[in-house]
Amino acid sequence: MTATTQLTDLSLYKQQSRWQAEAGANGAGGRKTGRNGADLVLEVPVGTLVLDEEGGLIADLALPGARAVLAHGGVGGRGNVHFKSSRRHAPDYAEPGLKGDELTVTFDLKLIADVGLVGPPNVGKSSLLASLTAARPDVGNYAFTTLDPALGVAESKAGRFVIAEIPGLVEGASRGAGLGHRFLRHAERTRVLVYVVDGSAADPWQGLEEVIGEVARFSPELAARPYLVAVNKLDLEDTQRLRKRSRRKGVHFISALSGEGLPELLEAMVAALASAPEPMAPARPAKIKLTPAASNLVVERKQWGFAVAGSRVEHLVSHTNLDSTGSLERFQVALDRLGVNEALEAAGVQPGDTVRIGDVEFEYQP
Ligand code: GDP
Ligand code: MG
Repeated sequence: MTATTQLTDLSLYKQQSRWQAEAGANGAGGRKTGRNGADLVLEVPVGTLVLDEEGGLIADLALPGARAVLAHGGVGGRGNVHFKSSRRHAPDYAEPGLKGDELTVTFDLKLIADVGLVGPPNVGKSSLLASLTAARPDVGNYAFTTLDPALGVAESKAGRFVIAEIPGLVEGASRGAGLGHRFLRHAERTRVLVYVVDGSAADPWQGLEEVIGEVARFSPELAARPYLVAVNKLDLEDTQRLRKRSRRKGVHFISALSGEGLPELLEAMVAALASAPEPMAPARPAKIKLTPAASNLVVERKQWGFAVAGSRVEHLVSHTNLDSTGSLERFQVALDRLGVNEALEAAGVQPGDTVRIGDVEFEYQP
């Protein structure tokens, strides 16, 4: 799979959830080797995380063009010429092609934006995003707000930057435990946070403390990043009164509705971005190989040696003719690719140890 800026969401994968690369073609008589199955390249938006069935991170495609190999196409079966061995001069056997790897993964989009608008519901985050960018997120309709954060591109003298509305924690909590944090995770890769509060609310500063506290509980690192505070709804009298009373420095009083204070807020965003550190580096390199765990491979240490189990590896054993040298070599390569050698090493195998896969037994030779 590869990360592209051409896509901005994962809707493609909501429509189709099963994807299949080609199986390897069968080998045939007359020296014909079956083609390897073609790899299937899935395009995903930049920022996509790939998780295994336990939720573990397999790949993090944080940059455009990042690639990850999740599953290989099937290996083509060899034609009968490869089975020529000293004992078998007239081969009559051609290998079947192998199916490709199979695994179940979850794609999760972790947004990458320059500025994240964070705050409780109804403070005007969507309205602000709409005023600053060409984005048209749902306004005031919070019960039906999409679960995906909205994105827009702001223009400034210093250049373009991306603003994201991070749906509020309360919005998330109202949809079930854990969702709030799922939303907030999107903020992890934003470089600057803007805490948005409603100046006409009963206690705007209390609301601000709560949101900052929530972010800090989620990620101290995120809370330590540069941030701005925007008090919205300055067109309302309550907010104007609040501004008169307030001695707080660095707070931007704005109205997403009338546009008052927005040019100054935009300028402050640009300045904060200029001094903000780069977004967090991907936790792991984007290029990964299928891990043994993903192909349900199990290596067990027994008194007599090591037992290897797993549907893929057992399929391989039952479809390989181990009487010929060529086939044996190929078998070794396939074992390696399935991660069997790696898993055996991890289990502590030593050269000469007995290894059993299905009803085949052999001595381990690295
Ligand atoms: P969000 O939940 O934080 O995204 O808030 P919305 O942008 O959906 O706005 C919630 C409500 O506040 C809507 O009814 C908006 O029309 C209203 N609103 C947003 N910004 C302003 C503003 O600057 N002034 C006033 N008076 N109302 C606003
Ligand atoms: Mg909203």
